[in-house]
Amino acid sequence: MSPVTYFTQLFTQTRRQAPADLERPGQQFLVRAGYIHPVAGGTPFLPPLGTRALNRMRKTFLEEIKALGGMEIHLPPSGERADLAHLPLLDFLSVHLRSHRQLPVLWFSLNQRPQETPQRGGGLLSARSQTVLEIISLHREESELERTSADLAGTLLGFLRGLSLPLVGGEDLPFAGLQTGQAWMIPLEIGEERLLICEECGYTAASSAARFARPEPVSDSPLPLKKVPTPECKTIADLAKFLGIPESQTAKAVFFTARREGKEELIFAVVRGDREVNEAAIRRATGAEALFPASEEAIRAAGAEPGYASPVGLKGVHVIVDTEIPGTPNLVAGANEAGYHLLNTVYGRDYTATQVAEIALAQPGYACPECREPLSETRGLTVARSIRFSSDFIRDRGLNYFDENGQSRPVWMEIHTLNLTRTFACLAELRHDNYGLILPPQASPFEVHLVVLPGKENGVASALPEVLKQLEQMNLDVLVDDRSESPGVKFNDADLIGVPVRLTLSERSLQQGGIEVRKRWESERQTIPLEDLSDWIRKSLSQRG
Ligand SMILES: [Zn+2]
Repeated sequence: MSPVTYFTQLFTQTRRQAPADLERPGQQFLVRAGYIHPVAGGTPFLPPLGTRALNRMRKTFLEEIKALGGMEIHLPPSGERADLAHLPLLDFLSVHLRSHRQLPVLWFSLNQRPQETPQRGGGLLSARSQTVLEIISLHREESELERTSADLAGTLLGFLRGLSLPLVGGEDLPFAGLQTGQAWMIPLEIGEERLLICEECGYTAASSAARFARPEPVSDSPLPLKKVPTPECKTIADLAKFLGIPESQTAKAVFFTARREGKEELIFAVVRGDREVNEAAIRRATGAEALFPASEEAIRAAGAEPGYASPVGLKGVHVIVDTEIPGTPNLVAGANEAGYHLLNTVYGRDYTATQVAEIALAQPGYACPECREPLSETRGLTVARSIRFSSDFIRDRGLNYFDENGQSRPVWMEIHTLNLTRTFACLAELRHDNYGLILPPQASPFEVHLVVLPGKENGVASALPEVLKQLEQMNLDVLVDDRSESPGVKFNDADLIGVPVRLTLSERSLQQGGIEVRKRWESERQTIPLEDLSDWIRKSLSQRG
């Protein structure tokens, strides 16, 4: 990158008004400043300014990956389905992976990937095609993978936190064949992922990972078990209405077929009738690699009746109940007979479970697990992911290598991804004021925006080379505005574009002893001697990481 760019080279015209159909303030600024040019229903065009911003983000992040020994590869463009995106890579590995001597591997790839879930918000948020960095690591041993995984996650999160973006992590398994998966989201109300937050203490978690405090156990004395006819009561709502009781006095039964260590097994989950089950929590608790809704045949084969199922009388089935169930006596549950339910089932007396775990899904209004205040819901956008393939999946794909003893073993494989397009789109939403964007140096197209106001004397013209020389020596990316526009227009454009450091060289600044400096995130301006410029810039850029 050439260190100095002149404003006219950016080509785009800044705009006073955003297109009428663009509602989000951050996306409006991206269009007005000339970072993006909207394309109806598609991916915005990126002129030099927008391209530079993404390139600088990529460069900063990749320097760290290269420092870890990463080598670049090119993956072919993928279709819409996320689970098929890695097929070409897996196929390549199955052909070329032979020996432990080829491992470990650390590759990175810059890809255009389709947006998995259409995003609201317009502009870059709704871009159909996104620039995504993928980091692929392959290892002999799980312990080796763990170490690199921690380094990569540290680099990834360090990079995102360095942009001062709020981040929320949660479990995320986007497709089958994975052993573990993590997603990191930026809270933003237009996002597609649900997050639960506590306004009181700040507890925040992705919906799939969120916990909540269950009510204190009820001390009601157990009542006798009684079978009653409940015709046409296949749902909890029907049942509660028919019996004239709240849904919270019923037990909800949900069956899954779980895949674990290559075998399929029926899992019977029970939560209070007014709760939903959290599949991610069941996977975590049982160690299942994948969960599918169980078929009616599988449910009947276990001795239960679909729509009228309960753990009462079942044998040889993995039963997992929510932690709330043992403390809630006298729940109505299915009788495992069509058209009948049992009143007053009591955990411990009428049935027990293989496991008791927190498997109910947290919802807004439930009590915060830390402070018991009600949780509220917000939304977020996933910007980074980490997925680890299960060893079954790896073995099925033939991704094996021969170890030192000539034994064939499955390789350990993980993929970390960072969505640059989304990160920048979120940055625009979260980092702006009424005048424009406020970008951190790593995500700004330039580090320094130099406004030159020539005036009548030739003082500015003779001081300019000295200023440029200093900036060049610091190897900074500099935007120079030497257009013949008014100072007001130039300052407005600088605010709009949002480069972290603004310098103004004018007759007035020279009369006051040097050059005027301003940090984009502060309103204060000051004039400093030219010889102090490098120090001031260095200090200012390091303050804003
Ligand atoms: Zn709280």
